[in-house]
Amino acid sequence: MNIYGKTLEDLENYFLENGEKKFKAIQVYEWLYKKRVNDFDKMSNINKNTISMLKKDFTIFKPEIIKRQSGKDVYKYLFKLEDGEKVEAVLMLHDYGQSLCISTEVGCNMNCAFCESGRLKKRRNLLPEEMTSQILAIEDDLEVRISHVVLMGIGEPFDNYDNVMKFIKIINSGKGIDIGARHITVSTCGIVPKIEEFMNEGLQVNLAISLHAPNDKIRNKLMPINKVYSIDLLIKAVKEYIEVTNRRVTFEYILLNGINDSSKCALELAKLLRGMNAYVNLIPYNETSHLEFKKSEKKTILEFYDILKKNKINVTIRKEFGSEVTAACGQLRANYEEGK
Ligand code: SAH
Repeated sequence: MNIYGKTLEDLENYFLENGEKKFKAIQVYEWLYKKRVNDFDKMSNINKNTISMLKKDFTIFKPEIIKRQSGKDVYKYLFKLEDGEKVEAVLMLHDYGQSLCISTEVGCNMNCAFCESGRLKKRRNLLPEEMTSQILAIEDDLEVRISHVVLMGIGEPFDNYDNVMKFIKIINSGKGIDIGARHITVSTCGIVPKIEEFMNEGLQVNLAISLHAPNDKIRNKLMPINKVYSIDLLIKAVKEYIEVTNRRVTFEYILLNGINDSSKCALELAKLLRGMNAYVNLIPYNETSHLEFKKSEKKTILEFYDILKKNKINVTIRKEFGSEVTAACGQLRANYEEGK
């Protein structure tokens, strides 16, 4: 069992169950996350017997970096996990801090038509420790402090709900990596029952919804999940989420040339979201091996933006990162497998 998968509470219970004092959990957490030691023997304020017990029950394992590419303000990593599976993470350097986009699953079953990740069907969930240690490995590698985490890499976080929640608790702990809840964003393609569950977690974490279309006709073609949870059901759940949590929601909208980027689509989107405590993040498409999808023209993107603005929808255009490092979800892995 990799110790990076334990919440502080798990470790406290572990010590109590083994007849030890609970505060040892905090000491161990500090060694792991504040002092960053990789070896139980270096935890010098913990007695020998306890160290032997920890060594018997846990490992301290970080994934191996098998590839790193960098571009302007962006680093892309390919990791090898303990069982040899590979996942990616992308670090973006913003003026407000360092934001890491991590993967939550090996492969993805959501099968969105434009997305590279779905080329590999889901093989398994990532464990909390495999998500936590992506952060630690990159912080070690670049000697940076990651301030923001977005769950927008390979995989659907709400298809791996329990592990993702545990991961959030681990990195949010003030005794650990201490990433503020408001600096953590979970992005979902719209698994409605999980949005309902998530709203009752009492977390201050941000929620982003990959919408990408203003109506079912277009969305059904882009995102198979829409055939299970239609836009109506999705918007209803998001409205409820906003009411329960009092938190603003982000809608992600990739602009795909000739598919969802007309002014009619913009108006329809504005109508759909009118009055909601939400904002739209327009995403210039990062072209992939799905050759039928092209990014929208700059002019079209700006027109789309203007229509939303005029209709009183909060909207931003996402800064483009990493097209030179094939940063779109799943691209690095796919290229690696093909020997590129
Ligand atoms: N499964 C989750 C999180 C992973 S995808 C979700 O669907 O939200 C993270 C975001 O990147 C989603 O909005 C997804 O639609 C978008 N995305 C996927 N491929 C992309 C590409 N080639 N260019 C731009 N955005 C992409």
